[in-house]
Amino acid sequence: MILRAILDAVFPAQCAACNMLGSALCGSCAPPFAAFTVAHPLLHVIATGWYEDALRSAVLALKDGRRDVAEALGARIAPAIAFGSLLVPVPTTRARLRTRGVDGVALVASTAACFSNATVLRTLEHCGGDMQRGRSRDERLAARDRFRARDALQGRACTLVDDVCTTGATLSDCALAIRRAGGTVTGAVVVAATKSPTPWE
Ligand SMILES: [Zn+2]
Repeated sequence: MILRAILDAVFPAQCAACNMLGSALCGSCAPPFAAFTVAHPLLHVIATGWYEDALRSAVLALKDGRRDVAEALGARIAPAIAFGSLLVPVPTTRARLRTRGVDGVALVASTAACFSNATVLRTLEHCGGDMQRGRSRDERLAARDRFRARDALQGRACTLVDDVCTTGATLSDCALAIRRAGGTVTGAVVVAATKSPTPWE
């Protein structure tokens, strides 16, 4: 805690949208919490806002490895997570992990878990490389077998966590990997959803 206080003093949180010091997503920029269900053919997906404006800036800062933003977004999604859930974060690509040094979605899930008395299980991993980048929407929807679970998940009910839901294909693939490992998927919680499918950023 002392280390944390020192870090907060030296590197104060800064709003991902307006750069104001004091909060990773300040009260003026953060859109009101409004959990809604995202249209998805297979899963019950809950988003806490649209992928636009401040929430888009925050997700991009998360992808850049901002820990303070991860914690702010974790606190944001926590009310959408059922008490005592088993959270399975969608893993970042190995390439992004190498360059950023942090898996932002896993941090979001960890913070949310603290608020929701949930458990985080980082069991999913990519089977291949950075396969989504540069693909068209149709190619991405057609892609399968991109993830696998490292653990046996028999009898375990998992809730997926991700930063942004675009086509929903990634969540579908992750759900498939969990089911293949014997688990069930109760649904997914994402920070934001795109209003219309757009290329992955
Ligand atoms: Zn702000």
